[in-house]
Amino acid sequence: MTTLVEQPLHKNTTNLKFNQKFFPQEFFYSQEFSITNTTKQFQSHQILPEQSLSDQGKITLCLDLDETLISSTMTPRCDYDFSFKLQPTEEGGKCEEYFVKKRPNVDYFLRRCSEMFEVVIFTASLKQYADKILDELDPSGDYISHRLYRESCSYFCGSFVKDLSLLNRDLNSILIVDDLPASFQFHPENGLQIPRFDYHLKKKKLNVNFLDSCLADILQILEKIFIQHDVISILSQYN
Ligand SMILES: [Mg+2]
Repeated sequence: MTTLVEQPLHKNTTNLKFNQKFFPQEFFYSQEFSITNTTKQFQSHQILPEQSLSDQGKITLCLDLDETLISSTMTPRCDYDFSFKLQPTEEGGKCEEYFVKKRPNVDYFLRRCSEMFEVVIFTASLKQYADKILDELDPSGDYISHRLYRESCSYFCGSFVKDLSLLNRDLNSILIVDDLPASFQFHPENGLQIPRFDYHLKKKKLNVNFLDSCLADILQILEKIFIQHDVISILSQYN
């Protein structure tokens, strides 16, 4: 069966690199790289068009979707922000319903990011799943300039990797925010790891209203990158 949602193949709770000044320990989540799986499926073409006139000269900000901007589950819940159904992709398959919780501050975050950057959603999820969510987050298409899905990822060592060298942009002007460092393992100097937003898990574990300020915290770093128009040296202070 095809998995529509981005899923890491290996999980552990060991943080590979993350700045503890900004985020509490319980958010840490990372991926253990497999060194035995050498399967590779690389993309070989440029996957973005030239920047539009309104984005010209802006730094390109790639944002992950699942566990970065939202948390989704197929388990019915009462406190979700929206839900949607997907028709089966295979003959005899069942219709699937997803319940989505938006990460706190995500609406403001996307709006502010779109004012500063060329915003690209770069997800390892499949288009039919991701578009349902992105249409809710950006209904008028004002905030997101491009959407990239799983087929734009390279498969390497058990992970879907977002190869920034294929974006048709100057690598010094690309920034990626993702909860999985494996996603940007080809360009770690361009990546900012954000703690995983798993609303369902955290709420159950903490048994309190789960307050998450990560997007607001990250925005402070993004504002600095925007003002100084510098990705690599500013990120080096946080990674
Ligand atoms: Mg993710």
